[in-house]
Amino acid sequence: MADIGVIAVTAAGRAAAGRLVAAWPDEAEVVRAEPPAEALRRAFTGSGAVVGFLAVGATVRVLAPLLGDKSTDPPVVCVDESLRFAVAVLGGHHGANELAHRVAAVLGCEPVVTTASDSVAGTPLDSYGADLGFTVADPGPLARVGAALLSGEPVRLEGAGDWPLPALPDSADAATPAADAAAVIAVTDRTDGPGTPDGPGHPLTLVYRPPSLVVGVGSARGAPAEEVGGLVDAALADAGLAPASVRAVATVDLKADEAGILAAARDRGWDVVTRPAAELAAVDVPNPSEVVRAEVGTPSVAEAAALRTAADAGRAAELVVAKRKSANATVAIARLRPRGRLAVVGLGPGARDLTAPRAVAELGRASVVVGLDQYVDQVRDLLRPGTRVLDSGLGQEEERARSAVCAARTGAAVALIGSGDAGVYAMASPALDFAGADIDVVGVPGITAAAAAANLLGAPLGHDHAYVSLSDLHTPWEAIERRVRAAAEGDFAVCFYNPRSRRRDWQLARALEILAEHRPPETPVGHVRNASRDGERVRLTTLEDMLAGGVDEVDMFTVVLVGGSASRAVAGRFVTPRGYRWKG
Ligand code: SAH
Repeated sequence: MADIGVIAVTAAGRAAAGRLVAAWPDEAEVVRAEPPAEALRRAFTGSGAVVGFLAVGATVRVLAPLLGDKSTDPPVVCVDESLRFAVAVLGGHHGANELAHRVAAVLGCEPVVTTASDSVAGTPLDSYGADLGFTVADPGPLARVGAALLSGEPVRLEGAGDWPLPALPDSADAATPAADAAAVIAVTDRTDGPGTPDGPGHPLTLVYRPPSLVVGVGSARGAPAEEVGGLVDAALADAGLAPASVRAVATVDLKADEAGILAAARDRGWDVVTRPAAELAAVDVPNPSEVVRAEVGTPSVAEAAALRTAADAGRAAELVVAKRKSANATVAIARLRPRGRLAVVGLGPGARDLTAPRAVAELGRASVVVGLDQYVDQVRDLLRPGTRVLDSGLGQEEERARSAVCAARTGAAVALIGSGDAGVYAMASPALDFAGADIDVVGVPGITAAAAAANLLGAPLGHDHAYVSLSDLHTPWEAIERRVRAAAEGDFAVCFYNPRSRRRDWQLARALEILAEHRPPETPVGHVRNASRDGERVRLTTLEDMLAGGVDEVDMFTVVLVGGSASRAVAGRFVTPRGYRWKG
């Protein structure tokens, strides 16, 4: 039977079921039987997931006698007759929440998710750190620890500080002594830590395994998988290290096809990374061997491969298990220090629906947010409880960029936010000027003011165009004027950012005069104030009118778009044609 069994009872339900099957032809299949309750039972016992165009109550009554374990039962989503809601009814954390979102996307209805830890407010514990490769050592305490967190009881947080994790509520704190805590959340690659059978820990401890270990191996040709695997298992066990924290197995290029190593790694679900001997030879190791150098061209395979791989991408690494040998194999284990994460996030021009979903996700994944007060206010509802906000007033751009990078350097997940696109006359460049290779940086594009304004005006940027900032705070006016002249001579349409302020009141008129020397007086000019924000104002006028006093309407909340010589107003809309004819 199909991955997703779909049940419909009414004509409307059958039509909607048809839409789901058409959208997911390889996954979804309508399950038919009479009476409909029988179809539902069949779908539940025979499919990987169930979508029913049925009432929640009827569904629960039919399925109640069949319910088993939530981790093995198929997730169930119900959609109401008038296609308003896709309700995750059973198995929320086992696929139903996600399925409800997918169904909602196809049918254009609202997903309804009622599991507590999925509320926008909190970081769901079952996926805490999942994008970093975290796994939950034992899901048993998940629900009770989640409940403690949601109800604001003190929770001790251990070992999380090194990883760029999303925020947890303030009640989760590294400083809370275990004795005072209702529960402990521990991030550790050790098996003898708190919450483990041998550990001294708190009775209610949720342990996450971070992907922090790299196992280096070497072997003689033909070394059996059992020997290699046994040696690795023993090295981990003796050092009190969790196999679930192994990120990869590393070895030398020459062993890329060594069956024993590959099979031992595969059996344990680990990837194998190989490195050239010359690269390994350059790694400083405690136990080099001249015999090995003579054979493979590097004095160390296991130690060097483990260290080199753990230290990938500028990370710090330490050897936690020095070389151990069996008859035909060697093993060593290195631990990597995670890197902080700086997300440079453009929020778009203002309206929430012009903010990219990826930007929203980054805000929810950050533990520290840095930005101007006004932008932080714009997205406060998207931040998880416990997120630290470093806001500051206008003009301290450099300082904001620095504090964001410094926070990332301590290992945090930081979002540096700005309006429009953070890379356009904004925070990305000062931040990246300052950021070293010791942090990860991701940029999330935003809709820049030029694009927001252009779409309100028509299609003014349909051909080659230039952005010019008229702010002479960081750039001498002569340089700005030279660029405006070049744009004028090149017949570029131009979008002016930072066009005019109370103190800088003559620059815009001067720039327009330069453009007017090269294009006709009736050239369209559009200016938009507060695009997609409260008080949005859109004006379409001409170069001539702007120079006859029109500039007075322009301020720092405005962008000004000036057409090229081929641009024109068509039915009240600003159009720069694609077909280009030189009129200069
Ligand atoms: N990073 C921003 C630009 C920052 S420079 C972006 O990509 O949009 C600041 C200037 O951008 C303002 O002086 C104004 O000219 C322009 N601007 C920013 N948002 C705007 C909006 N919503 N409407 C009109 N102009 C805007």
